[in-house]
Amino acid sequence: MSSRKTPATRTRVGKYELGKTVGEGSFAKVKFAKNVETGDNVAIKILDRDQVLRHKMVEHLKREISTMKLIKHPNVVKLFEVMASKSKIYIILEFVGGGELFDQIAKNGRLKEDEARKYFQQLINAVDYCHSRGVYHRDLKPENLLLDSYGVLKVSDFGLSAFAQQVREDGLLHTACGTPNYVAPEVLHDKGYDGTASDIWSCGVILFVLMAGYLPFDEPNLIALYRKISKAEFMYPPYFSPGATKLIKCILDPNPLTRITIPEILENEWFKKGYKPAYFEEEQNVNLDDVDAVFNDSEEHLVTERKERPVSMNAFELISRSPSFNLENLFEKQTGLVKRETRFTSQSPANEIMSKIEETAKPLGFNVHKRNYKMKLQGDKTGRKGHLSVATEVFEVAPSLHMVELRKTGGDTLEFHKAFLQKFLIRIKRYNVEHRRKY
Ligand code: ADP
Ligand code: MG
Repeated sequence: MSSRKTPATRTRVGKYELGKTVGEGSFAKVKFAKNVETGDNVAIKILDRDQVLRHKMVEHLKREISTMKLIKHPNVVKLFEVMASKSKIYIILEFVGGGELFDQIAKNGRLKEDEARKYFQQLINAVDYCHSRGVYHRDLKPENLLLDSYGVLKVSDFGLSAFAQQVREDGLLHTACGTPNYVAPEVLHDKGYDGTASDIWSCGVILFVLMAGYLPFDEPNLIALYRKISKAEFMYPPYFSPGATKLIKCILDPNPLTRITIPEILENEWFKKGYKPAYFEEEQNVNLDDVDAVFNDSEEHLVTERKERPVSMNAFELISRSPSFNLENLFEKQTGLVKRETRFTSQSPANEIMSKIEETAKPLGFNVHKRNYKMKLQGDKTGRKGHLSVATEVFEVAPSLHMVELRKTGGDTLEFHKAFLQKFLIRIKRYNVEHRRKY
């Protein structure tokens, strides 16, 4: 049968072999990749080169990326190197395989206070450290909080959100983007702001969501949302402890000048419980030639994407290529983590699976784009974080067995679970069972 799915082609950039797309933001695509020299897994963030260089932020970005290369904090996603081709910029990052922190909330609801505090301590630690090196995040939100396979929090995109920012002559940051629910009042008012205080605000919103399982500021329209954020108007659930309530009140202070600072948070009684500051060493002798090459517009060090000969994949290759099938991830399963991706198998023919996916996704409000045995499902309602989008792919693992992979590539993780995954899986599984009965 011709339904065997051979992966398109293998693409190489420098010493990295590109794998599947693990995420898509407004500016960038994130792909899984392997360093062919060392065998190490990495994540590559791919940006449009013209868009970046057009943003007149080259010096700013160059400084932040150089600084991030030095940072080796256990709670910050490591930035290894940058490369550029004629049309793209590639940022090589530590691959963090445990999914987004918020997948846990999407699955199990709010966290216990002790657990929320543990993540919050790691978050503050990471933010404090980067601030001390002059790098601000400016886009702290659930999608940028990843977990490694041991459950350690890793903050991603430090120094990179500047790709989507503007700095005016006054030297202050001005922004029009970011997820509004997590953004500080002074950022919304665009009066220019200091990155320290606004990052702290976002940490406060994150702490609230971890402990409540829902957002403090959440309105159906932007005007109402802005109004609530500007006045820091929100309610505390009755189950928040007095200590946590008091701390959140000091963080979600609409006035950035009186808002609590990180040194003050570090002295807070609720925060200090069980706190162990991270131990780590900075990178020594970091070479910054790659950063210079990318931002200096020279043609000399450009890389090219090379497509290698198509290869067919057997079950073993499929499993070993897939980062979710390794031992680390067996561990995750035991801790009950759901990720942005999931898989199921079916004994139906591939084209039947494809049409069933289409039939199931459409009533859930998704537009379907097909290409070979891949499909892109695009939510037609604008969610909290833009359109939900889901990539699906059907692989043949044995002549009568297919594996279907579903992956969130865009949109809000909580919405992905609530509005799509749960309903979709119930419906599609019902079909699989029915189908098997036919035999
Ligand atoms: P955004 O941060 O706006 O959601 P990004 O382009 O930064 O968009 O990333 C998209 C998604 O890719 C992230 O939400 C995350 O789930 C995934 N991702 C980003 N960086 C990594 C990484 N280093 N390792 C694993 N997954 C990552
Ligand atoms: Mg990100």
